[in-house]
Amino acid sequence: MSQVQGMVSIVGAGPGDPELITVKALKCIQQADVIVYDRLVSEELLLEARPEARRIYCGKAPGLHHMSQQAIHRTLLQQATLGLHVVRLKGGDPLVFGRGGEEALFLEQHGIRYEIVPGVTASIGAAAGADIPLTHRGIATSFACVTASQSADNTNPIRWDLLAGSVDTLAIYMGVSQLDSICSALVQHGRAACTPVALIENGTTTAQRVLTGTLTDIAAIAVQAELRNPALIIVGEVVRVREQLMAMRRQAEMQMGLQERIG
Ligand code: SAH
Repeated sequence: MSQVQGMVSIVGAGPGDPELITVKALKCIQQADVIVYDRLVSEELLLEARPEARRIYCGKAPGLHHMSQQAIHRTLLQQATLGLHVVRLKGGDPLVFGRGGEEALFLEQHGIRYEIVPGVTASIGAAAGADIPLTHRGIATSFACVTASQSADNTNPIRWDLLAGSVDTLAIYMGVSQLDSICSALVQHGRAACTPVALIENGTTTAQRVLTGTLTDIAAIAVQAELRNPALIIVGEVVRVREQLMAMRRQAEMQMGLQERIG
């Protein structure tokens, strides 16, 4: 008799706002037997699961890994081998700094069926939430998603030297604690010190905060404002589009206020 085969859906939960999830991802959550989820997954999405679905938290706060990657692999394998539908739920997109590729390789190696369901990654979500176009006609024709978190053995160093001059907009993940050194590296490698920078904390959520400055002063601004994780750094001239939009909005509001007073 053949055993019922389980499967693993490696699913992106989106950037923070629980409504920024794909229809397919939501269906996975609603049908799952087991949900193995990370810290950045919103509580509201977990409420979509069936009451009897098992929820397994695996942490992943910076520097505080609740469950090792190996333990996560083992959990996925154990649950899927029981014939269950396992949803591996991750913040943003599972394949953008999400280790989804490693999990897929592990599952394939063990003959476990899997699928990958994409999600809105933090840079796309946070940029929209902060009114910053990642590309903009005449200003930016390229953007890159970059991690500031380096592997301990330094086998794959971040090429700030190349990124500084070859990409218009940089969306930097996991960079809050190294903001000062990132800005210095970019300037050292030729990026203008007056290049605008935006920091988006808790992008797309009701707690979203946006700070702006330049490569010269943004690190001090972040300290002053007590910027916290999760936050995304956007470097590039496109940040000025936000400032333009804000200025236009303020002017429109002022005009409305004037009209109300006159009328
Ligand atoms: N797979 C995720 C990224 C995980 S790495 C994705 O595709 O989005 C975690 C980093 O993502 C955080 O350190 C932060 O830099 C960024 N991030 C995640 N959620 C965020 C949010 N709501 N606002 C700003 N940055 C966020």
